[in-house]
Amino acid sequence: MTLSQSDNHDFPWELGIYDAHCHPTDTMAVVEQIPAMKATTLTVMATRAQDQELVAQTAKNLNHSGDNSRRQRILPSFGWHPWFSHQLIDDTTSATPRSKEDHYVDVLTPSPVSDKTFIDQLPTPKSLSKLLSETREYLNRFPDSLVGEVGLDKAFRLPGVWTKEEMTSRDEGLTPGSREGRKLSPYKVKMDHQRAILKAQLQLAGEMQRPVSVHSVQAHGVVFDLFKEIWSGHEKVLLSRREREKQKDVEGALSGDEDDDRQDKKSKTTEKDAPLPFPPRVCMHSYSGPVEPIRQFLHPTNPSDVYFSFSAVINFSGVSTKKVVDVIKALPDDRILIESDLHVAGPQMDDLLEDVARQICQLRGWELRAGVKQLADNWNCFVYG
Ligand SMILES: [Zn+2]
Repeated sequence: MTLSQSDNHDFPWELGIYDAHCHPTDTMAVVEQIPAMKATTLTVMATRAQDQELVAQTAKNLNHSGDNSRRQRILPSFGWHPWFSHQLIDDTTSATPRSKEDHYVDVLTPSPVSDKTFIDQLPTPKSLSKLLSETREYLNRFPDSLVGEVGLDKAFRLPGVWTKEEMTSRDEGLTPGSREGRKLSPYKVKMDHQRAILKAQLQLAGEMQRPVSVHSVQAHGVVFDLFKEIWSGHEKVLLSRREREKQKDVEGALSGDEDDDRQDKKSKTTEKDAPLPFPPRVCMHSYSGPVEPIRQFLHPTNPSDVYFSFSAVINFSGVSTKKVVDVIKALPDDRILIESDLHVAGPQMDDLLEDVARQICQLRGWELRAGVKQLADNWNCFVYG
C-alpha cells in the first residue's frame, strides 16, 4: 500500500473511475479479470498490427451487446503507435511501390543499409492507406470508439534482433510485437515519417469526429506545430464583450426572435456536418512536458479541446515529479484525466488508478469525493463531448 492510499478515506469507486489510457490486451490471459475490477471503464488502446483485433474482440466480449448505457467496461481505441510507425509505408502522397529494404533504409536513421540481418527480421511494411481504411472500419463498428494510440517520440530506438537468450526467456503470455526485454538497436524512425503517420490518423479522427489519445515524448513542440497546421483556417474567433453585444444588436435588428432560433440551429448543424481535418478532442497521455506548451495547447482559439492525462507509473515515479506537480497545478479543473497506462488488467490497475486520483486530488486541494467526481466528468466530456 502506498502512502496516499494509507489515509483513512474510503475511495469512492461508486462515483465512477475511468482509465483514460491503458493496454490490457498486451496480457490476454488476465483480460477476463476486467469485469471484476473496481474501475468503471477502461479506455483501451491499440498500437500495432497484433493488437487491433484483440482490442475489438475484448470490447465486443466484455460490453453487453445491445446495452446502450454509457457504462461500458471497455471503450476501444484504434490507432498506430509511433514505435511501430516504420512498419507503415506512406502511400498517401506518392504511390511509387518500394522494396522492403528501400523503405526501411528510407525511414530509419542512421541508415540500416549495411545491416541486412536487422532489415530482414523487420515485418513486410503495410500501406498507410490500408491501415486507414481498416481503422475507419473499426471506428464504424464501434461508434463510441476513439483514435489511439498515436503520436510522436523523439527518444525511442527500435529493439534489436532477438538474441537466443532473449528468445528462450520470452514471456509467452505477452501479445507479440512490442519491445519486451530486447536490447535496443541504434535505429530511430525519422521525425518526418512519424509525423506523416500521425497527421493521417489525426485527419481520420477529424473525418470521423472522434477524440484521440496522443503519445508525445520529447516532441511537444512538433506535436503542437502539427496541430497548428491542421487547425489552420478553423481557429475560433474570439470576440470582445463589446463586439459580442454589437453582434447581438445587429442580429436582433435583422430578425425576430423566432428567426434567430432557426438561424442558430442551422449554423450548428452545418458546423457539425462539415468534415473537419482535426479531432474534436485530444488527450495528451502521460503528459511529461513542462508548463509552457500547456498554455499553447489550451489557447482559446484552438478548435480542439485538449486534455492532459497522468499516470502513477510515468508521472509520479521520481525523476520528473517536480515538473508534473507544476503542470497539474497549472491546468484548469476540467482538463485533467487519469490513466494507468498498464499492460495488465486487474487489481494492480485499480490500485494505480486510485493512487493517481488521490495524488491529483491532494495536489489540487480537491476534497476526495468532489475530485473523483470532477475526474469522472472530465473523462465523460473528453469521450462524449
Ligand atoms: Zn500507451
